Amino acid sequence: MNELLELKNVSIEFESNSGFFRKKRNVKAVSNVNLEVKAGEILAVVGESGCGKTTIGKMITGIYKPTSGQVLFDGKDIWNLSKREYYEYRKSVQMVHQDSYAALNPARTIFQSLSAPLLHHKLAKNVEEARRKLEELFMLVGLTPSEQFLDKYPHQLSGGQRQRILLARAISVRPRLIVADEPVSMVDVSLRISLLDLMADMNKKFNIAFIYITHDLATARYIASNGRIAVMYLGKIVEVGNLEQILSRPRHPYLQALLSAVPIPNPRVARNAKPLPLKSPDMPDPANPPAGCRFNPRCPYAEERCTQKEPVLNELDGEMVACHMIERIPDWKWETAIGIQK
Ligand code: SF4
Repeated sequence: MNELLELKNVSIEFESNSGFFRKKRNVKAVSNVNLEVKAGEILAVVGESGCGKTTIGKMITGIYKPTSGQVLFDGKDIWNLSKREYYEYRKSVQMVHQDSYAALNPARTIFQSLSAPLLHHKLAKNVEEARRKLEELFMLVGLTPSEQFLDKYPHQLSGGQRQRILLARAISVRPRLIVADEPVSMVDVSLRISLLDLMADMNKKFNIAFIYITHDLATARYIASNGRIAVMYLGKIVEVGNLEQILSRPRHPYLQALLSAVPIPNPRVARNAKPLPLKSPDMPDPANPPAGCRFNPRCPYAEERCTQKEPVLNELDGEMVACHMIERIPDWKWETAIGIQK
């Protein structure tokens, strides 16, 4: 498979004036990230809030321009495209946002909102054809009968219905890549699986690549079970590779900690569970990241070297991990984490 998208040493800084004295400071939200996505693949990008995963999504879709590094689509830097190439790229890369209400214009009907990109990209000759195409698309995403949805305003629909509409809007322009940013986190738990299935279906049927951004490992595992996962911590990727391989044998201590923090529904089992004992539960200030490995103030395995030198991603058993002590990190076992004695 060819690379559809590549991030090459991408970093981005924002100016922030938060804090008690409202002092201006630079926050490096993403730092030297390298990542690639192949045509038709599903990549889950996971990490805690504030780790930079949404910022990566916004750089891929051209909403943010990186401070340094390159975002390549079909091998071309998206910030150096000709007018025609840029138009194609904007059509080929779509984003589905977490907040479906904010993503739709409240003053326009669903038909008005969704027919605009079809007409703009000349995928429909006129309003009648746009309506016909949207009716077909709504069948595909399970919004039937379509007339019950097309003439409504966003506030007249449920969160799950609006999220399907956002997917329909993204698919309507025949994209090659969809960046889905926490697309199910604001949807009722009972509807999440059907939305994930819908995205997996779109991936198979139309060979659309997906970047699924989430803090929820369970949904990441569900949708990207045949794909890859990239784990982010404080603006950096710390582990990346085949999802099943990584989640069955997590190597980086941060991913081990994330997995051992997954709630266990059975209280008796939960009582015996042994979460990884982190030195601190708090994420450091992104404006002032720790020297060396960014995880060192929390990592139970940190040694002096970890406070001095930043680890880079190195190959290990077919995946990439950024940790100085990787050979000495004990294997993390599901049985221990969930309190099952062998
Ligand atoms: Fe922990 Fe050191 Fe590895 Fe960072 S480099 S994850 S601090 S052991």
